[in-house]
Amino acid sequence: MPISSAEEPRRDIIFCAFTGGLRAKPGEISLAHQGVLFLDELPEFSPQALDALRQPLETGQVLIARANHHVTYPARILLAAAMNPCRCGGGPGAGKCRRGPRCAIDYQARLSGPLLDRIDIQLDVPPVTAADLALPSPVEGTAEAAARVGRAREAQTQRACGLNAALDLEALERVAAPDAPGAALLAKAAESLALSARAYHRTLKVARTIADLDGADAVRRIHVAEALSLKRQWAGADQAGFAKVS
Ligand SMILES: [Zn+2]
Repeated sequence: MPISSAEEPRRDIIFCAFTGGLRAKPGEISLAHQGVLFLDELPEFSPQALDALRQPLETGQVLIARANHHVTYPARILLAAAMNPCRCGGGPGAGKCRRGPRCAIDYQARLSGPLLDRIDIQLDVPPVTAADLALPSPVEGTAEAAARVGRAREAQTQRACGLNAALDLEALERVAAPDAPGAALLAKAAESLALSARAYHRTLKVARTIADLDGADAVRRIHVAEALSLKRQWAGADQAGFAKVS
């Protein structure tokens, strides 16, 4: 699996390097095809570069249009990105930011709504404390987790000749239709959170994958609830009772 990483030395990357450049060569997104593209400190990339991510995240392809010709390169990637809460590195909650809440608000606003809509899982990761380091290792180690992921991928391939991320709408409705409580929860969330059609279907894909990791044939309410809770901007809406895993 190819892993392409654009980290600190290349945060000034222009969008051409992402998509293909002036000579229409494969860019970072295509070099990571069928693999992982890791972008560290996501808001530090230019708005133009971030905007260039939207099309390939949606279609799995990059279209490069030049004066005399068009070229399409494959770009089906797993995008993984990281960022600090604010530019200072700590965020107001960590006590390292002296600029107040505005610092985090301005920094996080560099990521557009349409880009965030295409990122299925968004999580806050609290700092590791000394007490955390003293805790025993998790019951499920890396090897066990990798084996579980392998079983889930195998189940997806056997069921639909492809991974959940690549399912078209018809296949998604066939293999990921939740049970009645799950469907009711998703319908309520779609209305309360004003989910876009894209977000609705991506939530279904994530719920199907969670069920696969669980070894479950059917997508149940708990899988839908967990999928909803994995999106940062929705998790805060759990007072409504639909975003908490139950
Ligand atoms: Zn700050």
